[in-house]
Amino acid sequence: MFAFKASAQQGTHMFRAKILSKCAFRRKMSSRLVLGIETSCDETGAAVMDETGLILGESLHSQKEVHLKTGGIIPTVAQRLHRENIGRIVQEAMERSGVTQSQLSAVATTVKPGLALSLGIGLDFSLNFVKLHQKPFIPIHHMEAHALTVRMLQPVVFPFLVLLVSGGHSLLALARGIDDFLLLGQTLDEAPGDTMDKVARRLSLIKHPKCSMISGGQAIEILARDGNRLKFLFKPPMGAHYDCNFSFAGLRNQVTMSIQKKEEEEGVEQGTLLSCVNDIAAATQHAVASHIAKRTHRAILFCKAKDLLPSCNPTLVVSGGVASNQYIRKILKIVTDTTGLHLLCPPSKFCTDNGVMIAWNGVERLREGKGILSHTEEVNYEPKQRTHEDLPDRQVRQAQRDEVPEDFGVEVEGGQLHDVVALAVPPPPVGSRGQHVVQGLHG
Ligand code: AMP
Ligand code: ZN
Repeated sequence: MFAFKASAQQGTHMFRAKILSKCAFRRKMSSRLVLGIETSCDETGAAVMDETGLILGESLHSQKEVHLKTGGIIPTVAQRLHRENIGRIVQEAMERSGVTQSQLSAVATTVKPGLALSLGIGLDFSLNFVKLHQKPFIPIHHMEAHALTVRMLQPVVFPFLVLLVSGGHSLLALARGIDDFLLLGQTLDEAPGDTMDKVARRLSLIKHPKCSMISGGQAIEILARDGNRLKFLFKPPMGAHYDCNFSFAGLRNQVTMSIQKKEEEEGVEQGTLLSCVNDIAAATQHAVASHIAKRTHRAILFCKAKDLLPSCNPTLVVSGGVASNQYIRKILKIVTDTTGLHLLCPPSKFCTDNGVMIAWNGVERLREGKGILSHTEEVNYEPKQRTHEDLPDRQVRQAQRDEVPEDFGVEVEGGQLHDVVALAVPPPPVGSRGQHVVQGLHG
């Protein structure tokens, strides 16, 4: 009886699978298909997607474990690993999709920005592939792809505000179209993920039992849960800069100096796990989060004052590896709740680098007929550009000091910007205004 049920069930599954595969087959035949390839940094990714955004097959190889051991990305090592894996990763994505090379409508590949040696592997592979199979090529801007991934998951109409925070980038932009971004601000030195990775390395968190196999940013988030951030007070960056740019290098310097001081106090060598790692992690995470929140708040108020966001469903999209941090998401949610915006964060797997986001950007371009090349002789990769060109300078301006007046957004009291999150919580009954701010951001 049971066996019969099981086989009947199996039969149903097989039947369903057949129908599904028939549907998928029809879909494949009727919809244009894009192969996306990503190699800009330390992930080798590929995905095949149909025109509706359905992922038909994907594959990803992460180099993170290798780079974790060497204490950072060594470009020649990244290049070697991309070279070793790209053929397999593309083949896996193609096989999983059940799509043949001849069925593809185009190949989309990241060509900028990123590490030159890494970009080169993806581009060389792609150019050979399109030449061999006679396919159009769509060069992809990695940051645009991050910004637009959310539209693969749900309908988000232009314009919307986007915050990209990762290991290599930190920027705020108004997305007005698939190739039209108004850059509002970006990092003047390093990216927040990079800062947290460096702090984690300086703290030797790789020796911590909870953190040996994870990125610096993840380690900081995990340890921060058991830490008291008030034990270390780091001055928030750029308090007197009334624009939407970011800076994290000075903050990292403050953290490093505190670590040095603690090592001296505890009489231990650099490389020893300090007893207060949780507190340092909590204070670092908090300082990074509140800096990101303040600049985002300013960008929102700027967009509102200039009528740049739609009155219906104004949206903030947050992406990049650092966007998977729950504490940062929570603080950004307070900012968006306070300002009446919707906060959208793609799931973590779509926040980090992958082939899917590149395929999706290819689909968006294919649909609009933008940037599709049939001749690839002139195509080249463009590694890390000058920072103000993290997004293309076509139609890009910076909402700098002259465009974001000083009295905009965050109020100024005693020369200090109010912590935006304090707006959303009742002031605690103790201390000075400064303490209110600190407690307002707690938790
Ligand atoms: P990406 O550059 O987008 O590939 O993302 C990698 C960066 O995100 C690295 O610098 C990580 O340390 C950082 N990151 C990943 N997960 C988290 C997290 N939960 N909190 C903070 N940073 C994170
Ligand atoms: Zn990225």
